[in-house]
Amino acid sequence: MNKKGLLIVISGFSGVGKGTAVKKLVEKYGYSLSVSATTRAPRTGEVDGVDYHFKTVEEFEQLIDYNGFIEWAQYVENYYGTPKKFVEDELSKGNNVILEIEVQGAMHIKEQYPDAVLIFITAPDAQTLKNRLEGRGTEDEKVIAKRLKRAFEETDDMVAYDYLVVNDDLDVCVDDIHSVICAEGFKSSRNREYMQNMKSELEVIRNNK
Ligand code: 5GP
Repeated sequence: MNKKGLLIVISGFSGVGKGTAVKKLVEKYGYSLSVSATTRAPRTGEVDGVDYHFKTVEEFEQLIDYNGFIEWAQYVENYYGTPKKFVEDELSKGNNVILEIEVQGAMHIKEQYPDAVLIFITAPDAQTLKNRLEGRGTEDEKVIAKRLKRAFEETDDMVAYDYLVVNDDLDVCVDDIHSVICAEGFKSSRNREYMQNMKSELEVIRNNK
C-alpha cells in the first residue's frame, strides 16, 4: 500500500511543546525530520545541523535567491526556511517526512504540496499555554509577549489544518499524531496504484484458471 512518502506539517503555538513532541515522534516511530535553516541565535544546548542550520541573514537570503527552500517565512524578526533537497530526496525514497514549521510556512506547503497532511498541536487552554511559555525560561518577557500575540493571531489559522491535536499528556499527544499519520496513509485516495495492481493481478490469476 501507499509507497509514496507522506509530507507531514506540524505547527502549533509557541510553547505548546511541539518540539518535544516531534523529537519523540522521530525517536519512537522513525519519521524523517527536516532540519530547518534559521537566522535566530542558537539557544543553550542547540546544535548546528541538528536543531537548526544556523545562518547569517546574508547566507539565508542567498539561499532564498538560489531557490534552496521549499518555503520560508519571517517569524518574530527572524528568518526560518525548509531546505528543499532533503525533503524531496526523502519523499522520493518513500519516507514520511515531518516539517515542524509555523503557520505561514504551512500555508505555502499546502499550496505546493496539496497532499501534505497538516497537523496543529494546541494546548488544553490558554492559561496552560502561557504557563508553559513562561516556564521554559528561554525567552525574556518581551519575546514571550510577542509570542502570545502571535498565538492569538494563529487561532484564526487553525481552521486551515487537517487535524488538531491537544498536547496535555506528551505520550498521548505523540501517539495521537502517529495515529493520524497512519490513518492518512491508509486512505483509499492515497492507494489508487495498489487498487489498480490488485485488479491486474486478480485478472491474471482468473485468466490462468
Ligand atoms: P523557534 O525559534 O521557537 O525554534 O521557532 C519559532 C517558530 O518557527 C516555530 O513556530 C517553528 O515551528 C517555526 N519554524 C521552524 N523552522 C521553520 C521553517 O523552516 N519554516 C517555517 N516557516 N517556520 C519554521
